[in-house]
Amino acid sequence: MGFWWRPLSVLAGVLLVALMLWAGSGWVAALGFLAGIQAFVMLRRLWQEYRLARWLENPDEVSPPDATGTWGDIFYRLEKLQRRQKASRGELSSALEQFEHAAMAVPDGMVILNRSDQIEWCNPASRKYLGLDSQRDRGQFVRYLLRQANFLEFLDAGDYSRRLVCKSPINREVVLSMQLVPFGESQKLLVARDITDLERVDAMRRDFIANVSHELRTPLTVVGGFVETLADSPKLPEAESHRYYELMLDHTRRMQRLLDDLLTLSRLESSDNSLREEPVNAPDMVRSLESEAQSLSRGRHNVRLRLESTRWIRGAAQELRSALSNLVSNAVRYTPAGGEITLTWIDREGETVFSVTDTGEGIAAEHIPRLTERFYRVDRSRSRETGGTGLGLAIVKHVLTRHGAHLEVQSIPGKGSTFSAVFPAQRLMDPPAEAKVIPFPVQEQAVG
Ligand code: ADP
Repeated sequence: MGFWWRPLSVLAGVLLVALMLWAGSGWVAALGFLAGIQAFVMLRRLWQEYRLARWLENPDEVSPPDATGTWGDIFYRLEKLQRRQKASRGELSSALEQFEHAAMAVPDGMVILNRSDQIEWCNPASRKYLGLDSQRDRGQFVRYLLRQANFLEFLDAGDYSRRLVCKSPINREVVLSMQLVPFGESQKLLVARDITDLERVDAMRRDFIANVSHELRTPLTVVGGFVETLADSPKLPEAESHRYYELMLDHTRRMQRLLDDLLTLSRLESSDNSLREEPVNAPDMVRSLESEAQSLSRGRHNVRLRLESTRWIRGAAQELRSALSNLVSNAVRYTPAGGEITLTWIDREGETVFSVTDTGEGIAAEHIPRLTERFYRVDRSRSRETGGTGLGLAIVKHVLTRHGAHLEVQSIPGKGSTFSAVFPAQRLMDPPAEAKVIPFPVQEQAVG
C-alpha cells in the first residue's frame, strides 16, 4: 500500500483539477491541462530512465540518482539491493582470498586438474616438489610435464584410493607420496607429500633388522653346530668337548652382549625415559674408569691419567659411566700390546672434556663420520675378535646427546686416536663444598 498511496493521490488531485477546469472553463481547458501534465510526466520519466540507465551501467563509479516520489522509492530499493550484493561479493572474495592463502601455505604440493588432466591451478609447494609453475604451466597437460612411467600409469588408472610413492622429478633425494582426490564435477586434486624422512626411518628399520639377524646368525650357527656334534658323539675326548663348551660359552656371551647393547639403545630411545639429573662426581668416575682400563688391559698397556678439572656433571651417573667406559674399552681393544692409553678430564673454554687417547691402529678419515652408526665397523673381524658388538659408539652418541654433550674424534691411521666427550657449561657444576676437600691429583701422572 505504501507504494500506491502517493501516485494514486497525485492522480486523484490531477483529475480533480481537470474536472474543476471543465466545469469552469470548458473541456478544451481541461484537456489542455491533462495534455500538459501528460507531457510533463513523460519527460520526467525519460529523464529518470536516462539517469537509471547511466547508474546501472557503472554503479560503482556514478552515484545513484537522487529523486523523490515513486522514482525515489525505486532508486532507493535498487541501491539497497546493490549495496547488499556488494557486501556479499566482498565476503565471498575475502573467503576466496583466505582459501587461496591457506592453499599457498600448505606444505604439500597441490595441483588442480580439469577433466582432461590440464593444470588449472597449483600452489608454490608444487614448484618445489614437481617443478610446476602456476603461471607458466596453467592449461598444460600434466602428463607432458610429469612424464615418469609410473606417474602416467597412476594418472590413467584413476584409482583414488591408491597412493604412488616415487622420487621427485626435480630432486632425486626427495621421496613423494602422490594421491589423486576427485572433487567438483570432473576435477581432480593431485596432492604430493614429502615422505623422505618417513622413508629414511623405514629403510633404517629394515637395515637394523637385517643387521641384528646377521649378527645373531653366526653365534647361533656355531652354538647349534657344537650342540649337534656333542649330541651325536657322546664319547668325544674330554679335552675336545671342553674346548667346544668354551667356544659355545664364548658365542653365547657374544649374543648376550649384543642383546644387552640393543636393550640399552632401546631404553635410551624410549620416549618415556627422561634423563635423571643427579650430581655426578666426574673426577671419581674418571678415576674408576682408569682402574677399569687397567683391569681390561691386564698389564698390556701403559695407562695414564690426567685429572685437571674438579668439575662435576649434572646427569645420569649410570648412563655416563657405561658410555665413557665404552670409549675406554675401545682404546684397550684397538691398541696393540705395549701401547699407551691416556684418560683426561680437563677444562676447555667453559666446556669440560673427557678424552681417551690411544696409540693404537687409528682410523682413516673417511670412516670417522660413520663410527656412531649402529653396527658400523672399520675392521669387522678385529671388532668381533675382541668381543665388539658394533653398537658401543652408537650408545655413546645417544647418551652424550641426552646430556647436551657431543663426541669428537681425532685419529691418525697407524698412530692412534683420541675420542673426546665434550660437556657444555650448563651440564657442569662445581663440586659440592664437602667434596672439594678431597685432594685431586692435578698433575699429569703415569699410572701404568
Ligand atoms: P665395536 O663394538 O665394533 O668396537 P663401536 O661402536 O664401539 O663398535 O666402534 C665402532 C668401530 O669404530 C669399531 O668397530 C672400530 O672399527 C672403530 N673404533 C672405535 N674405537 C676405536 C679406537 N680407539 N681405535 C681404532 N678404532 C676404533
